[in-house]
Amino acid sequence: MTLIKKISDKILPKKDSRDLMKLFYDLEGSPEFPFTLALSTFEKLEAQATSQKELIEYLMEDIVFSSLYATFYEEILATIYQNPDVAVPLVNRFSEDQSTREQIIAEQTQSHMNYIMAQGKCPGCAHCDNHQDVKDLIQYWAKQDFKFFVTLYMGMQTIQFTMEYLLYDVVPTCQDYSRWLKRENLLKFRQNLYDFVEQKLNI
Ligand SMILES: [Zn+2]
Repeated sequence: MTLIKKISDKILPKKDSRDLMKLFYDLEGSPEFPFTLALSTFEKLEAQATSQKELIEYLMEDIVFSSLYATFYEEILATIYQNPDVAVPLVNRFSEDQSTREQIIAEQTQSHMNYIMAQGKCPGCAHCDNHQDVKDLIQYWAKQDFKFFVTLYMGMQTIQFTMEYLLYDVVPTCQDYSRWLKRENLLKFRQNLYDFVEQKLNI
């Protein structure tokens, strides 16, 4: 699965990502716990969908959206890691750019959705160069693999809510965290979050 980058445990001392995981675990039990937020967005989609196929389509759309979004989080957090002194202005600028960013991601998501639902065919669009990143989803869509999409959705949403929390709540108030935002740590953190979700869903 290319959307979830698996990296070796050996790359970094475990302590760093465990410290980031502590941030996550500290929220457990509160309404702001990212897994709880993910569950509630899942339930909303479930209530909206009129069939399982429609629900899978909604899940897939959000999966593609949040995996594209994740790249932006990685970039901004890595930039903060390199420039901790200007962390707050960087967060503010990122926040101001939100609607432009979401528009770009939404357009790209739509192109990828068309590509996946046409079994990997695209007559040509602005995002053909990146279809490769979502190619793995075609087979699961063809199989209508509900369990696969629920797991990936919950994983990606949990990661997204955690990154939001890290960027908007933790970094501006506790800049000490900037030194943990090394790219390798973030990738490991994402993987740990994903593993947590898999365990929680009992997979
Ligand atoms: Zn295309």
